[in-house]
Amino acid sequence: MKTIGLIGGMSWESTVTYYQLINSEIGERLGGLHSAKCLLYSVDFAEIEDYQRQGEWDRAGETLADAAVRLESAGADFIVLCTNTMHKVIDRLEAAIQIPVLHIGDVTARAIQQKHLDKVGLVGTAYTMEEDFLIERIRAHGIEVMVPDETEREIINKVIFEELCLGRIRDTSRTYFLEVVDRLANAGAAGVILGCTEVGLLINQDDKEAPFFDTTKLHAMAAVDMALE
Ligand code: GLU
Repeated sequence: MKTIGLIGGMSWESTVTYYQLINSEIGERLGGLHSAKCLLYSVDFAEIEDYQRQGEWDRAGETLADAAVRLESAGADFIVLCTNTMHKVIDRLEAAIQIPVLHIGDVTARAIQQKHLDKVGLVGTAYTMEEDFLIERIRAHGIEVMVPDETEREIINKVIFEELCLGRIRDTSRTYFLEVVDRLANAGAAGVILGCTEVGLLINQDDKEAPFFDTTKLHAMAAVDMALE
């Protein structure tokens, strides 16, 4: 089994989910007392969020590249960056290490392709919905990506940073997210990417018929595949 190097803490609420999913899946596949070989470098999210808000992506990239180097030297065989947003600086990480980084966008695109869908909606942070680092990565697989309108994006972003990343799960926000999902589906999305690693804490597949592509689950399962390859 390979050793997974997790860069987490963005936020730690979703890193907990990664840790649970990866370990339970390894247990499921290998049986008995098997669990994942993994290393976790968990950042102080306030620092990273500050860099994001100030547009200091270089400094954010440097911080995460430093985490990746530490994980590599501690014995990680590959890196899992437990956030969609920070894939914006994935080049910085890749340039700093020899081991591969498992890209959340590629993993998500493959899951969409497996369901033969070519047009999906995306909810995530404003960075993820408004910039092209994740959308283009998914489009490169021949998939069209639709995002909510400006007001919706603003509210979704606020819920992520002011509620979900703090472990606050509110029914009013769940209802709002599900309304956005409906609007995306009515506008032609055949499925919806939960493109923020905390969104699965709020809504899940049981809530809707249109398939959800929960990036946390997909990324964690792909990490298990890679660890057992
Ligand atoms: N976990 C979130 C994501 O998947 C948001 C936190 C962050 O800005 O990294 O994008």
